[in-house]
Amino acid sequence: MERNAAVEELLERFAAGKTAALARAISIIENGGAGAEAVMDGIYPRASGAWRVGFTGPPGAGKSTLVNLMTRIFRARERQIGVIAVDPSSPFSGGALLGDRVRMQDLAIDPGVYVRSLASRGSLGGISNCTDEAADVLDAFGKDLVLIETVGVGQSELEIAETAHTVVVVLVPESGDGIQAMKAGLMEIGDVFVMNKADHSDAEIAAREIETALRLKTVPGGGWRPPVLLASAREERGIVEIADTLEKHRRWLGESGRFAAKRREILFARVRNALMDRITRRLDRAAAVRRLVEEKMDEVYSGRMSPYRLVRQLEGLVRIDDAPGGS
Ligand code: GDP
Repeated sequence: MERNAAVEELLERFAAGKTAALARAISIIENGGAGAEAVMDGIYPRASGAWRVGFTGPPGAGKSTLVNLMTRIFRARERQIGVIAVDPSSPFSGGALLGDRVRMQDLAIDPGVYVRSLASRGSLGGISNCTDEAADVLDAFGKDLVLIETVGVGQSELEIAETAHTVVVVLVPESGDGIQAMKAGLMEIGDVFVMNKADHSDAEIAAREIETALRLKTVPGGGWRPPVLLASAREERGIVEIADTLEKHRRWLGESGRFAAKRREILFARVRNALMDRITRRLDRAAAVRRLVEEKMDEVYSGRMSPYRLVRQLEGLVRIDDAPGGS
């Protein structure tokens, strides 16, 4: 889709606050390509820097349940909320228990909440997922708080730190979660730790273990010390404290200048990823590069030329000047 009549019409309906236009915009962005760029070009100027809070942690820790509860609390605090679930089995995409789905339905009829699950990992940059762009679209639509729930397996657990201002790590006392968290690098990225399922007996001990591990980390002067909160999402205990702590972190982000700095980092990474994607595509298409690779492959294969010598020759074909007159 070029920046044509269809895009213009979509942008107009988006600006008028039509939820269908919001849904369509996110779908286009999920699909990527030129259509996504045209929509982002139009929408981006409206994004004013909503607060992004990411929830990560192992599957089954209670992320969905917590996001659900946070949505309710922050709605009551007059926030306009967007929820992004990057998890095909979350209640938002319909894969969870009936109880969760019923609860989510209350929120679904509230115009102050927009819930969206993202299955695709395509993006304008082609490298990161499109959570980042989707958060901007929600922001541009007028949401001032975007809650992001990750799938909680592998890379996505850590990627959230590159997209969210505030990262909540949700753990449970059972199955040595604390140790897993340390191994997976979650200790490094959490701003707030929640030991959920505190209705189970070992929660307090497990929370203290996390606290001890966190104490070993040095916090720069005036820095934020990540607290460990006990909660039971199922019994709705400790939930208001989590919301209050998140607000406290938001205030700290603002006062320390971290909020603006984070936004710049997010945008820098986005520009870089999109540029890298474009260069890769151009490289794949370039006939001169393909010819040279084809010509030289036998030499590389037989060991007469090292792969790196070929790369150096290719580099000459795809040079990007880094400064006027630079090499
Ligand atoms: P997610 O995979 O991290 O999103 O976890 P869910 O929110 O889907 O929760 C996984 C399961 O744990 C569900 O059956 C929840 O009802 C249950 N659960 C969530 N919070 C609690 C809690 O505080 N205590 C107990 N006992 N169960 C919980």
